[in-house]
Amino acid sequence: MGASKLLIVNPSCPGWPEWPVGMAYVLACLEQRGIPFDLIDLARVENWEKSLAAALDSDRYLAVASGGLIGDYRFFRRLRELAGKKSPDTPFVLGGNITKDGNDRLLFDIIGVDYAILGEAETSLPAFVEGLRAGREDFHGYDGVIFREKATGQVVRNKFKRLDLKRHKVRPAWHHFDCDYFITMSSFPFMGGGLRSMPVLSGRGCVGKCGFCSPSIGGFRKREIADLIDEIRFLIREYDFDKLCFLNEMFYPTAREVREFCAAYAALETRKPWFVQVRIDAGLDAETLVMMKEAGCIAVSAGIESGSDDVLAAMNKKTTAEQIRTFFRNCKAAGMPSNGTFIIGYDGETAEDLRKTIDLLIEEDISSGDALLVAYQGTKVYRKALGAGLIEDEDKHLDDFCCDIFAPDAYSRFCNMTAMSTDEFFDLAPKEVRRYNTYVFDKYKVRDLSLTIDGNWRWTSVLLEGKCRECGAPVRERFLAYGAEFLGLLGIGMSRNTFCGHCFKPLAFDIFEAGEMPEGRAHVREVSKALARYRRILVCAPTNDVNFLLRINFLSLDYELIHGIYLYRDEPVGRYLKYPVLKEGEIVGSGADCLLCFDVDAGASVRRLYARLGRECPPVVHAHPEAFRRSVAAKVPHAYRINQVFKRLFGVSVRTVLDRARALVGR
Ligand code: SF4
Repeated sequence: MGASKLLIVNPSCPGWPEWPVGMAYVLACLEQRGIPFDLIDLARVENWEKSLAAALDSDRYLAVASGGLIGDYRFFRRLRELAGKKSPDTPFVLGGNITKDGNDRLLFDIIGVDYAILGEAETSLPAFVEGLRAGREDFHGYDGVIFREKATGQVVRNKFKRLDLKRHKVRPAWHHFDCDYFITMSSFPFMGGGLRSMPVLSGRGCVGKCGFCSPSIGGFRKREIADLIDEIRFLIREYDFDKLCFLNEMFYPTAREVREFCAAYAALETRKPWFVQVRIDAGLDAETLVMMKEAGCIAVSAGIESGSDDVLAAMNKKTTAEQIRTFFRNCKAAGMPSNGTFIIGYDGETAEDLRKTIDLLIEEDISSGDALLVAYQGTKVYRKALGAGLIEDEDKHLDDFCCDIFAPDAYSRFCNMTAMSTDEFFDLAPKEVRRYNTYVFDKYKVRDLSLTIDGNWRWTSVLLEGKCRECGAPVRERFLAYGAEFLGLLGIGMSRNTFCGHCFKPLAFDIFEAGEMPEGRAHVREVSKALARYRRILVCAPTNDVNFLLRINFLSLDYELIHGIYLYRDEPVGRYLKYPVLKEGEIVGSGADCLLCFDVDAGASVRRLYARLGRECPPVVHAHPEAFRRSVAAKVPHAYRINQVFKRLFGVSVRTVLDRARALVGR
């Protein structure tokens, strides 16, 4: 008898898991149709490759199936490769957004799928599985199935049908997942972690057609409110969580529908606080936002994208800068915490457009994350960039996209569609984003900050405690850093995912204001003064600290004076923004007239490089006060110190030696 069971693989990221909502619905559909399956959830297995091999060794499967976003394509390629090696006759099936957005080459040649499912798998997977069981290879006429015709090699994409949400009343099959783990570990942009939330959908798809986006399944279809409330009641009864999060792309298209939901939810006997992503063109007035608040909504997020009407129109965003201002003012009037996101580098963006965006954010005091435009396959900007010859190599573009302007080599990875040259853009955009970040950093500094640093044999543990600047709630943040490389983590935390769990305003941890560094403020002033005397500053700092320095101007630095960057180890990075990253051998001849050092050993390792060549070392300016450096130096982990000694003696790190030894043994 042939195999009838599916092996489903959830491509979650351990330690940073995202709720697999789509997959939970698909599993519910399989259960309902009596289609057996096994599940490997990457969030909960130690070694997924071993788990996959063990599953394929112990059972015969009708197909191996997975699904997700285009950004996961490397994982799908690896999954397909491993599954193919273990079980060459078992077809590999892919679903999720990637099948809609990815072109035929990505799906069939790069990843190597045998079949792909378009749209909501509930409408097509059961019939497709029946076809597979019957030994079918030709899927002409099967809704939503993509396959390659045997005879011609042509890829056929059958149109997909949308799910009728009025008739389809299935609950996501959460019982197949370790929900306690997801509840504890999941975190959300602009909300932070520790929310202990559970997801729910008010509908599927989105009414928008933004040029940079490709909504999951097309236009918005809402669920019947009674059905949604019923599911919420079920979740509250069955699972131990604190908040509900609406994880669909948009909540409701109009304020009237939002009010209908609020009225129904407020009538529930047991409720949980909730948060949600809304569209600004839904026209949520202060009255509606108050109603949401009274119904338990604790925060709303919205896509701002730009402060320029021209760019908003080019994006097809269906909002104006004035509507954005009105929305955030309404939130303030209603006492509703709010936040958003904006894009830099959009198609046709001018210097003036970019400044307007940052002005709007600062003038309205909006909490927002920034993203560098990425032309993803499946979007209007991708098609335009491809047509204009801006994407010469589609595979390289796919491998190399970068949505953080401060990331290594963002300059060469950015597909520039703006009205500025790449040089002009990289002159202006970091300056403007930094203007906003520095505004947030200065405004939302945690009060009464205390900093506790401890080292074990390998890691430095950093504990920050204080009070939220906005609401005074106690805040606490703990993380592990390698050696003494922790300053930058604070900056990344500030701008990425550290928010007050009470008012959801950003938390800026300025360690120079911590009680443990009484001389911190005066030291920063001294550093600023000292740096103003030089013209070619070489920044010597680990990656995280570089990122922090480029993002936030906490030293009142003139960034035009940065001559280059040295990362304390040779990394495969060409530049940060427009600044060259120098290798160890390039520092001495670089012509730098000052070294700005972020290390704990008083720039000793850099001085030694000059001494080795008998050259005079330029003046060293230390980012941290001496007493603080000494106290950190006494606590840095043994492994970090051993590594430093090793580097001094042999010129390479312990890890490099181990890697080389491993390579030799493996040869
Ligand atoms: S960006 Fe948001 S509003 Fe625009 S199409 Fe995508 S999901 Fe919809």
